[in-house]
Amino acid sequence: MLMGSFAYEALPMRVRFGSGTVSALREEVAHLGLHRVLILCTPGQAPMGELVSAALGEHSAGLLAEARMHVPIEVATLARDRAAALDADGCVVVGGGSAIGLGKIVALEHGLPIVAVPTTYAGSEMTSVWGRTSDGVKQTGKDLRVLPASVLYDPELTVALPVPISVTSGLNAVAHAVEALYAPDASPIVSLLAEEGTRAMTTALPAIVRDPRDLDARTLGLYGSWLCGVCLGATTMSLHHKLCHALGGTLNLPHSATHAVVIPHVLAYNQAAAPAATEALSRVLGASDPARALWDLAGKLRAPRSLAELGMRKDDIEPIAEQVVANPYANPAPITRDGVVRLLRAAWSGQPPSNIS
Ligand code: NAD
Repeated sequence: MLMGSFAYEALPMRVRFGSGTVSALREEVAHLGLHRVLILCTPGQAPMGELVSAALGEHSAGLLAEARMHVPIEVATLARDRAAALDADGCVVVGGGSAIGLGKIVALEHGLPIVAVPTTYAGSEMTSVWGRTSDGVKQTGKDLRVLPASVLYDPELTVALPVPISVTSGLNAVAHAVEALYAPDASPIVSLLAEEGTRAMTTALPAIVRDPRDLDARTLGLYGSWLCGVCLGATTMSLHHKLCHALGGTLNLPHSATHAVVIPHVLAYNQAAAPAATEALSRVLGASDPARALWDLAGKLRAPRSLAELGMRKDDIEPIAEQVVANPYANPAPITRDGVVRLLRAAWSGQPPSNIS
């Protein structure tokens, strides 16, 4: 196939990867010229935050274990005030998208650089996208200031990630790669990353389910999440991410589980209109129908496969479809209200995906 012209913009950051990498955190903070960093994590990750704080020694200004999903404005204000009170000159964020999201708002509002230590597969550390929720409305934007200056991937920190979250978070990562393969700003570079990221993640997940303490599988999973995160940061996402944003924002459905349920259906919707992406995913998943293969994989991994089981009511289908078709955006298959309703009905009830665009 002839290659067309394309543009690719690499985002500036340092990455350290490997088992035990977190022990280099102090060195990394010093390398960035930071002296007093505020550590941010979710309440559940407080023991890990304490460990990180201890490892940072005199470079630790303190720990705030208050990060919450979707960065509520009150938590953002608390973090900002704490950073100012402690005279922090940077943040170390330990955790998933919620902790990293909080660090991003502190970076956006105060210019404090972030060092990220991701412990889920959500991929936020690889993007310049920020989000903040006020009065139930999530505002998002893109700004290079929120991109972590440095990311340390340590698979040992992911060993305790519960299997159900590992599985849905891993499928969340795969969804980034799927949409990057058919993005309006796709490129051969990103496609390489997407294919390799999907291969790594879909190989790692069954092994993680068999033995969550399998460090080789955890390493492969975290590597996959890194590559899929780069895909998210490098391209413009389409129907899948718009749908999940609407489902999460309007109905408060859980982030990664929603992605896990929806991605096979959106892929089925787009497959015929995105032959190169379908070919790449067929290669990786070893199946002529990658949407079905992803749905089957979710079943084997015991991931949720219906929006109903995540708490969505059947009556919510039409309003969500309205929201998703309200504004135009790039997507391989044309976005129609009827098509989105059919997609949502299948995802809601847990039927296998079918080509419904
Ligand atoms: P999360 O950060 O909320 O983490 C899920 C749960 O797992 C939390 O309770 C957390 O404490 C726990 N956890 C995390 N790591 C753990 C570990 N190693 N061991 C045990 N428990 C652990 O969930 P998420 O899916 O990573 O992130 C979701 C949020 O991130 C959403 O708000 C989403 O919008 C945002 N996000 C943003 C971007 C972006 O580019 N801006 C990308 C992806 C996700």
